[in-house]
Amino acid sequence: MNTTSIHELFAHNRVWAAQMERERPGFFTSLIKQQTPKFMWIGCSDSRVPANQITGLEPGEVFVHRNVANLVVHSDLNALSAIQYAVDVLKVEHVMVVGHYGCGGVMAAMRGTRVGLADNWIRHIQNVRDRHRTLLEALPEAKRADALVDLNVIEQVVNVCVSTVMMDAWARGQKVSIHGWAFGVHDGLLQDLHMTVSSTESIEPLYRAAVEGVIAAYR
Ligand SMILES: [Zn+2]
Repeated sequence: MNTTSIHELFAHNRVWAAQMERERPGFFTSLIKQQTPKFMWIGCSDSRVPANQITGLEPGEVFVHRNVANLVVHSDLNALSAIQYAVDVLKVEHVMVVGHYGCGGVMAAMRGTRVGLADNWIRHIQNVRDRHRTLLEALPEAKRADALVDLNVIEQVVNVCVSTVMMDAWARGQKVSIHGWAFGVHDGLLQDLHMTVSSTESIEPLYRAAVEGVIAAYR
């Protein structure tokens, strides 16, 4: 089960490609023309959270951006470019920001663990922690890391929503919804954090309700 050799990756790839072609003749040639995914996934780089496998989506069905702790930083040209391409060019209808429990980035932020250069990236999660410090401290200590995973997702959904890409898309009437989900590495299940935003006006009330929902869930 555990692949350790780099050569095995090519062997696996050939088996996979042959199997796909056997089961679905013409699958790859149908992908040549153009990708037309309806979904964009913004997730953590963590190896336990593979977007396609979790959601049962095939090549061509989900546009993916991943980084440490699924952050959408206002000045991150990489994330913003991916979102802009997905929304403006591919015309995806749903963007999911997906966190996961047991996230190393979130735990490092929680504990203030120093890991190196990445500390500067993780600082964004500490800003989330500090913004919700009173709420987090009112929760049982054992549940705070999971709550911060959820709060981080909710904050990143807001960051997507307030980007010029989304403000412009909604202003011209494009139908795109931004969702906040969390994945359980321990059970393989996705949780909806009830932070689904489809217009600029609804960001604020949905944000407040979603944050209250997180606190109520862990109290
Ligand atoms: Zn993670």
